[in-house]
Amino acid sequence: MDLKSGYPYWAVKNGLMYAFPRLDADLNCDVAVVGAGITGALIADELAGHGHDVVVLDQRDVCWGSTAASTALLQYEIDTHATDLAKRYDQASALLAYQACLAAVHDVGTLAQAVGDVDFATCKSLYYASNRADHARLTDEFAWRRQHSFPVRWLGRSALKDQYGLTSPAAILSSVAARVDPYRLASRLLRRMQQKGTRIFDRTEVKSITSTARSVHLTTDSGVSIRAKHAVIASGYEAQCWLRQRVAQNRSSYAYISDPVDRAELGWLAGTLLWESSRPYLYLRSTGDGRLLVGGEDDDRDIPARRDRLVDRKAAILQRKVARLLPHIQAQPAFAWAGTFAETADGLPFFGPHAQHGPRVLFALAYGGNGITYSMIGAGLLRAQIERRPHPLTDLFSFARLE
Ligand SMILES: Cc1cc2nc3c(=O)[nH]c(=O)nc-3n(C[C@H](O)[C@H](O)[C@H](O)COP(=O)(O)OP(=O)(O)OC[C@H]3O[C@@H](n4cnc5c(N)ncnc54)[C@H](O)[C@@H]3O)c2cc1C
Repeated sequence: MDLKSGYPYWAVKNGLMYAFPRLDADLNCDVAVVGAGITGALIADELAGHGHDVVVLDQRDVCWGSTAASTALLQYEIDTHATDLAKRYDQASALLAYQACLAAVHDVGTLAQAVGDVDFATCKSLYYASNRADHARLTDEFAWRRQHSFPVRWLGRSALKDQYGLTSPAAILSSVAARVDPYRLASRLLRRMQQKGTRIFDRTEVKSITSTARSVHLTTDSGVSIRAKHAVIASGYEAQCWLRQRVAQNRSSYAYISDPVDRAELGWLAGTLLWESSRPYLYLRSTGDGRLLVGGEDDDRDIPARRDRLVDRKAAILQRKVARLLPHIQAQPAFAWAGTFAETADGLPFFGPHAQHGPRVLFALAYGGNGITYSMIGAGLLRAQIERRPHPLTDLFSFARLE
């Protein structure tokens, strides 16, 4: 499966940062992490940092999957409104999910600062109503977040026009959000782990996973065998191949990045992410060197060749939308790309075991628009499961919600 098309900017900017060896001899470990994207990197780091003997395996060069295509807006606000989650489940579940995401934005920041040089910055996030019909939904969402002490401000039509130059009925301004170079963060994290003794192998495909009551046995494309106490499947949108039950829908999202824009022209966009209430939504942010990074135009295409052909056309549509929304900005696409992502029915991820594989095989499916913040939560959650400790999100983020 080809997870990305066109020229994902992070891969162009950073190139192949580090090469790891292929695995060519059998080994034993505590935890075998399958997949070295941002999810596998965060989970492996959490486990290795707490004394587990971890091995990480990737069939490609590390971070060369959808991590390289991510626009990496880090938000606690997820694609499903808290008010909708509360209706679907209950207030406590909605609150739990949103509070965990809020903490995760902070946690990614702490990690990014420790790793260093990953273009991390905290920002605000402006979520505007795409049309009049969404005004009421945003009003309810704002009231819910205020009631539960989330860091939000309401902006009406005239405040939005005066302060942001945006024409929209209303918006929720959140003061907690961030941005990062996800490819660089994951790559540097993996390199740091390797330097501390974690074994990392790329260009090593895991072909089979079987488990018993005591261990998990994995084999690779070259017939090498790995015996572990647990396996973590962090293989991103390709993880569905390990499950007979369909747990999510693969889709494509499109993105472009401009050349650096003059600081004065960028204005508030230098420190604020922007997204909207329509689904699929337009999302955008700037980078440390002042580029505008724009994404959206999601569709159901799951066939890479068809998606590849659309990259330039989708970038042109996105550019027209940005020009209408922010007419003062001149930002032509310098690089455009597309990537696979997956959506779950409720916008929440899946972390934990699935009945098909037993308790020693743990899935890390950080699906949805907030994949990176979800992965940060998943790191702590899966460590708790491996260490047999309770975690408040074990049930909500489990496959049990599909029953
Ligand atoms: C265009 C786009 C924009 C996005 N924007 C955002 C955003 O703004 N904010 C946000 O939080 N999220 C965003 N996401 C989602 C986010 O990028 C994903 O959550 C994240 O990239 C998933 O990382 P991952 O490590 O799970 O998957 P991947 O990066 O795909 O890593 C999985 C790895 O597993 C490996 N693998 C697969 N099968 C095997 C096997 N059998 N053996 C060995 N290795 C295997 C693959 O080679 C791959 O390297 C976006 C995604 C896209 C595509």
